[in-house]
Amino acid sequence: MRKQIAAANWKMNLTYQQGEKLLDEILHEKIALKQDQQVVFAVPFPYLIMAKSAVANEQNYFIAAQNCHHKKSGAYTGEIAAEMLHSIGIPFCVIGHSERREYFNESNQELAEKLNLLLEQEIQPIFCCGEPLSVREAGEQNQYVEVQLKESLFYLEASQLKKVVIAYEPIWAIGTGKTASSDQAQEMHAHIRQVLSKQYGADVANEISILYGGSVKAANAVDIFSQPDVDGGLVGGASLVAAEFTAIIKALK
Ligand code: PGA
Repeated sequence: MRKQIAAANWKMNLTYQQGEKLLDEILHEKIALKQDQQVVFAVPFPYLIMAKSAVANEQNYFIAAQNCHHKKSGAYTGEIAAEMLHSIGIPFCVIGHSERREYFNESNQELAEKLNLLLEQEIQPIFCCGEPLSVREAGEQNQYVEVQLKESLFYLEASQLKKVVIAYEPIWAIGTGKTASSDQAQEMHAHIRQVLSKQYGADVANEISILYGGSVKAANAVDIFSQPDVDGGLVGGASLVAAEFTAIIKALK
């Protein structure tokens, strides 16, 4: 059965002390997760080890990095390699967030390189995709996301693809307070699963967790997560507030 995942994306927010306190408050709730449910905290690089030790004794709670570099190692001052993340025991890494695609010009091809390096290191990529408002308004969102998937993922073997978590995040819904309706989310998630199914078969496609991201909060999480092809969420703003994120965890199917 595919995993239902509540993933927090802290982005470039919170000091170390604030991050430590937030984790403490959320873990203090002792939310028991079902076997197929997972909670992932994508925290800034300098907090990875602290966060990892905070969840060390918690069942199904994990830590993610928010990015890695697309080269294996070398003269890339200030960058972080997948191998480094592996060496400190980090099991997940977000890649291809729309903010990185936009501000750091990350291309689908570059993300394919990151995917390879992460999978080589046995780190599960949380691969973000999603269309800008202009594409949605032109009604071309299905095609747009399909190209993102094809160019970054489709050279993977089925066994590798099964390790990838996909996060669909319509750019117009990120940090804007404008959520896709649960119907819009379901429609795109079903499309993504169909695209995967055509390439890899329905059995493989049905094993992939597809998260929704974009203004998820306590008030809309149950509605969105209850859709059949939505397997949880990647949450930015609301993941910075303990009461909000604990409610979002509890909204997992
Ligand atoms: P948001 O961000 O929940 O603040 O809209 C989601 C994300 O960018 O991952």
